[in-house]
Amino acid sequence: MTEPAEVKVREVLPGFHLIYLPLPMRPTIVNVYLVDGGSEWGLIDTGMYTAESVKAFRSALDVAGCPPEKIRKIICTHHHPDHFGTSRPYQELCHAEVFLHPLELARVASFRAQARSPETVRFFERNGIPIESFAKVPSLGEFWRNMYAPAQPDHPLADRDRIAIGERTLEAVWTPGHSPGHCVMYFRSEKVAVVGDHLLPKITPHVGIVSDDDGDPLGDFLASLRKVGELDVETVLPAHGPVYHDHRKRVTQLIEFHDYRMQVMLDIVRGRPRTAYDVALEAFDLTPQSPLQQQFPATFETLAHLEQMRLQGRTEKFEVDDRVLWRPKTAH
Ligand SMILES: [Zn+2]
Ligand SMILES: [Zn+2]
Repeated sequence: MTEPAEVKVREVLPGFHLIYLPLPMRPTIVNVYLVDGGSEWGLIDTGMYTAESVKAFRSALDVAGCPPEKIRKIICTHHHPDHFGTSRPYQELCHAEVFLHPLELARVASFRAQARSPETVRFFERNGIPIESFAKVPSLGEFWRNMYAPAQPDHPLADRDRIAIGERTLEAVWTPGHSPGHCVMYFRSEKVAVVGDHLLPKITPHVGIVSDDDGDPLGDFLASLRKVGELDVETVLPAHGPVYHDHRKRVTQLIEFHDYRMQVMLDIVRGRPRTAYDVALEAFDLTPQSPLQQQFPATFETLAHLEQMRLQGRTEKFEVDDRVLWRPKTAH
């Protein structure tokens, strides 16, 4: 049997179907996974809520031989629009139960259509982002308004929860960092890990601080990498990029990458105290004329690295004229 050319679905392991869904921005594809458990099927992540993505998903179900009502459980790795964006339409289509970590549910609200709050604007300003930039970049809610249809989850996910998909068992492994309630979906018997955005083969996921309440996401991310490194895994099914095998090698690479990036940022603030925005421009090779869609996330990532080093006792921050400046921590 030949598949229609436009349908992108592939059985990557017996019973594990990778569906490639289009995204209207980079990365241009998100992989979601359809798991055949015999008496029922499960879906891990949903893609973004666009007409092209929904069409691709429906065609893929036909090719995989899975009528929508066979999908009884929709389990999402995290709340981002490319993962959780079509959860409500598919919850309705399949009459399936939706699973999401409660810390992710709290974040869904930040994607509701709304203007940026005064606290957010003040946070950006204090960290050095030039005020004239704000108006040119829409808030999350404004940007995602039409591409995000989040479900009200039926079940909160917790670390090490076991969920049956027919005869198979999925274990949720809480991996905060890229987002606070991100979970890797681990199939212990099959030695398969569906890793969401946590352990991507080609790119590093965004790990950033966007408010004063964000804690230490880079520290969390590094700990979550080590946690996944301890699992017995033969096949890694990522949300972006190709299926791969040596997950421990990738864990090591990502830890080294962030260690190096922290060192670069420490060297930058050694010259003179700087705001996170100034450090970001230099560390990421940007200028104030670079696209704001690069300058903003670079600043948030920089903050995550500076904060992790502060907790390690390598940096400290202080305020001058309502600006937060960073410098190396020296013995006083
Ligand atoms: Zn994500
Ligand atoms: Zn993603």
